[in-house]
Amino acid sequence: MLYQRSSQLFIEAEKVIPGGVNSPVRAFKGVGGTPIFVKKAKGAYLYDEDDNQFIDYINSWGPMILGHAFEPVIEAITERAKLGTSFGTPTALETKIAALALEMVPNIDKIRFVNSGTEACMSAIRLARGYTKRDKIIKFAGCYHGHSDSFLIQAGSGASTFGIPNSPGVTSGTAQDTLLAQYNNIQNVMALFEANPNEIAAVIIEPVAGNMGCVPPKEGFLEQLRALCTANGTLLIFDEVMTGFRLARGGAQELYNITADIVCFGKVIGGGLPVGAFAGRNEIMNHLAPLGPVYQAGTLSGNPLAMAAGYAMLETLNTDREIYQRLEEKTAYLEKGMHKILTKNNVAYTINRVGSMISVHFDAQPVTDFDTAKAGDNAFFKTFFHNLLQSGIYIAPSAYETWFITDALTYDDLDTTLNAIDRATQNH
Ligand SMILES: *Cc1c(COP(=O)(O)O)cnc(C)c1O
Repeated sequence: MLYQRSSQLFIEAEKVIPGGVNSPVRAFKGVGGTPIFVKKAKGAYLYDEDDNQFIDYINSWGPMILGHAFEPVIEAITERAKLGTSFGTPTALETKIAALALEMVPNIDKIRFVNSGTEACMSAIRLARGYTKRDKIIKFAGCYHGHSDSFLIQAGSGASTFGIPNSPGVTSGTAQDTLLAQYNNIQNVMALFEANPNEIAAVIIEPVAGNMGCVPPKEGFLEQLRALCTANGTLLIFDEVMTGFRLARGGAQELYNITADIVCFGKVIGGGLPVGAFAGRNEIMNHLAPLGPVYQAGTLSGNPLAMAAGYAMLETLNTDREIYQRLEEKTAYLEKGMHKILTKNNVAYTINRVGSMISVHFDAQPVTDFDTAKAGDNAFFKTFFHNLLQSGIYIAPSAYETWFITDALTYDDLDTTLNAIDRATQNH
């Protein structure tokens, strides 16, 4: 495959955009080489500027669960655009999508729309702090909640007490209020609660982690977390930016039958337009301005184009009764095929999967947290990635990402992918 035009476009982009990209992981730093510039996409396929075709396993990092340029979404955006693109006033459409989201997701009475997952998580934390009148939060190493200051914290030597920032520009003051725990380690969380009595406003978690590859919660872990939060007057925040409307109509709350206090959304909820949202019970959500004292606002929040796209997406997911079963079956087929191939080719590997989130780790040990996720064979992943790319299979250019399966994928696409995986892992 030739990437002549993409390579040229990347050189031009680097002159005017830092690193040539508007979000770092797109730059292929984790795998080497230059990123492909996409011209268009339809269904399960991406087409780049050199007219190469790829079967897409990233799908805009999650939103395109029904495939690219999904007709009802495109139609909704097109029709809506003719009526004007932003007013800065309430619109009937916002109430309509809010009501639909409340119908689909359990345990929430009100929802507020924002423009990204980052904004949703950032606002959820402020709300939790305002509601509990406490400052500290607990997050888990390897979980990603967007790029706001409180979340850019990584384990340091004092990880079990105070976090240290992992980006310049995050103040140590902010970092001190973020406590770090190990995913799937309830003892670790208990110790943090004991060391910080009556100080923890919220525990925020990806109920199925998707930003260190796919890491499912261990049996009972989320239940124990729920109980700990309740016992300590702490809010449990489910960051369902990735899992929301993907794992089930009602997301991870429905799948695991756990009640969160605040739920964050992004990705699928916008149907491919910039949308995020956070939601909770009245008692909590009524603390938000203009009803309550916790301030949160946005010039383009609830934007009519974005709401039209999101509504068309959610409506399809709500009415197609077989959608989640189909996604489960397609992803299970891929998983089964990969097990067979990787075993046959003597590759040391682990596959993690929940519903249509799946990841392959090149390490035979179980991957249950950030440390075990990092233990994989990164050098081999790079070769694997480029081999697949050459075969027209586009997976995330990083070993720490989930693959997102879409309903647009056919079993032929999955077989093509499995054949490519076979070729990429022979003579390993
Ligand atoms: C993608 C993601 C975010 C950030 O959302 P953006 O729209 O990129 O700001 C937050 N949390 C999780 C779990 C995500 O996967």
